[in-house]
Amino acid sequence: MGVNPHMEAIRRERTLVFVKPDGVQRGLVGEIIARFERCGLKIVGMKMVWPTKEFLDRHYPKDETFLVTLGSKTREAFETYGMSLKASMGTEDLLEIGRRVRGWLLDYVSSAPVVAFVLEGTQATSVVRKIVGHTLPVFAQPGTIRGDFAIDSPTVANLEQRAIRNLVHASGNVEEAEKEISLWFSPEELFSYPRAGEEGF
Ligand code: ADP
Ligand code: MG
Repeated sequence: MGVNPHMEAIRRERTLVFVKPDGVQRGLVGEIIARFERCGLKIVGMKMVWPTKEFLDRHYPKDETFLVTLGSKTREAFETYGMSLKASMGTEDLLEIGRRVRGWLLDYVSSAPVVAFVLEGTQATSVVRKIVGHTLPVFAQPGTIRGDFAIDSPTVANLEQRAIRNLVHASGNVEEAEKEISLWFSPEELFSYPRAGEEGF
């Protein structure tokens, strides 16, 4: 039977993850990487970097859709806890809140080194997102990285004028993954090799 090229592409999907400053500073790098390794994902590139704000400005999207998504996560948490968005943030404009959150996000992720890696495997992007859990640790399920190791919410973070500390970044979809991998890694920094159990090992 011939190899189906479509299936090969799904099997070899690659996605970008980095352990954020809070994960590195709390000594959780090993724990976090182990969770991806044990489900069968293959590490095909890895490095420690101290990202600058300029670099992160290229990493995090600037479009309205992304900014409104950030703002709506603030609204989601505030509504859940019966807090007034207007009273706490001074505005209900999700785009404006999103802009503010993005600024805090650049401060947070540039505050210490991160450990970045590229993972490869069947539908890697979805699998990684499942293991990482909900953006807001208070809503992340137990068993996920954010659910097990973090406890933060925009209700406190935004009042303290900071981003949510949630330990890891993971590409949101395949398109984002492709862009992020080429921003963070050069082709020479990525490797193809068989994992134990794979054909040719
Ligand atoms: P994810 O990291 O789950 O893909 P997003 O891409 O929406 O989430 O947001 C990027 C990062 O911005 C989040 O991981 C989190 O650190 C931070 N963040 C998102 N929404 C908020 C918010 N409402 N308040 C503070 N920080 C936020
Ligand atoms: Mg995202």
